[in-house]
Amino acid sequence: MYDIKSFKAEEFISDEEILDTLAYADANKDNVDLIDEILNKARERKGLNHREASVLLACDMEDKIQEMYALAKQIKEDYYGNRIVMFAPLYLSNYCVNGCVYCPYHLKNKHIARKKLTQEEVAKEVIALQDMGHKRLAIEAGEDPVNNPIEYILECIDTIYSIKHKNGAIRRVNVNIAATTVENYRKLHDAGIGTYILFQETYNKKSYEELHPTGPKHDYAYHTEAMDRAMEGGIDDVGLGVLFGLELYRYEFAGLLMHAEHLEAVHGVGPHTISVPRLKRADDIDPDTFDNGIDDDTFAKICALIRISVPYTGMIISTRESQAVREKVLPLGVSQLSGASRTSVGGYAEPEAEDVTTEQFDVSDNRTLDEVVNWLIKMGHIPSFCTACYREGRTGDRFMTLCKNMQILNCCHPNALMTLKEYLEDYASPETKEIGSKLIEQELEKIPNPKVKATATEYIHNIADGKRDFRF
Ligand code: SAM
Repeated sequence: MYDIKSFKAEEFISDEEILDTLAYADANKDNVDLIDEILNKARERKGLNHREASVLLACDMEDKIQEMYALAKQIKEDYYGNRIVMFAPLYLSNYCVNGCVYCPYHLKNKHIARKKLTQEEVAKEVIALQDMGHKRLAIEAGEDPVNNPIEYILECIDTIYSIKHKNGAIRRVNVNIAATTVENYRKLHDAGIGTYILFQETYNKKSYEELHPTGPKHDYAYHTEAMDRAMEGGIDDVGLGVLFGLELYRYEFAGLLMHAEHLEAVHGVGPHTISVPRLKRADDIDPDTFDNGIDDDTFAKICALIRISVPYTGMIISTRESQAVREKVLPLGVSQLSGASRTSVGGYAEPEAEDVTTEQFDVSDNRTLDEVVNWLIKMGHIPSFCTACYREGRTGDRFMTLCKNMQILNCCHPNALMTLKEYLEDYASPETKEIGSKLIEQELEKIPNPKVKATATEYIHNIADGKRDFRF
């Protein structure tokens, strides 16, 4: 039985409700009146529920799809402006006891090199990342209670925050590790993490169990209920995602929104971010052996519909996607991008030799951070290295309130400009510095509150004079 407020996975992600939703969407995919009604509701910025959004996903009328895209662009502009927050993943360890059939870190893979960073190696990685200009990381690790216990993860977080190299600093560490206990989530919260990210992989229980045949991750309920435990442990910024390519995308999309609705209904705050990874080629993984890959147009439609269904939730696109695909989906509501990512353990400080790989998957966007920043600026986006919200205690519903009140232009926008200024001063190539400085001048003019505008201008001058880390 579907129950949005239940704490049981099979009730808040009810298979029956998803199947009913898909049947309802199929029955209404050409129902222009209903589609217009749903689009009008979305125009009021009230978001859409999984049933409404699924009708739009099923609809293949070109003019209606263009309306969805236009609306996604408008909502992105209204709530997020032209900022794109930058981050990089940091792989700590690829030891793993699970049997995930799509991931090369699975236990039975005997030829992938296994590696776990020592604290000295973590420090080297962090210095390499700081030297590129990164301020925000997402740490990644396989699940292995012996090799990667929570104490190891906590120690790494401490090391990461402690490194202050030249003008560099990692100011926000997001964490993407396997589902764990309330007690461990509390420890992560106390260690000062930003978002706890956990991809559901698939919401379809039967497929989930087949795709995770062995190891602790096999337990669908434990995995699906992880975000409730994370919230119970005090983490109020959580990041959802499914791995597109494993199951039917329409099933996943409905499940993803039901999960977001459940978090909002039970905890009063929806997911902070949604990631949209697609399955990639990796060591012993061939994505062509999975039947449910989605093409770029479907991918773009999913991104646009996430934006209009959950307007206050950030959307993350990783370097699993190529420059071309990133360009296609950026205007449709993306708010965070990774840049210059390495998915190998220790890959930032020392690029891997050809014959020893610890990589999780092939990266499709291999540009440097400076190239990505330059490209964003040329397209009129503001690459932002801002981490202010969580450092000011604006997490969970407090961030959502800022977003809902459209205060982004008086707060996130100047913060983005100030952190871009830091990047330009410390790490940018001469060309990026030149075009970035012009962008900052133009964008300062857009700050509506005159006091905020004056202060931001002053801080930006201070940054040119060598001072760092200002924020609203
Ligand atoms: N091990 C952790 C867990 O159990 O959730 C998370 C860390 S893992 C490094 C991060 C994510 O990478 C996984 O949740 C999965 O969605 C994704 N991933 C695994 N194999 C992949 C592949 N072949 N292509 C693309 N993404 C993949």
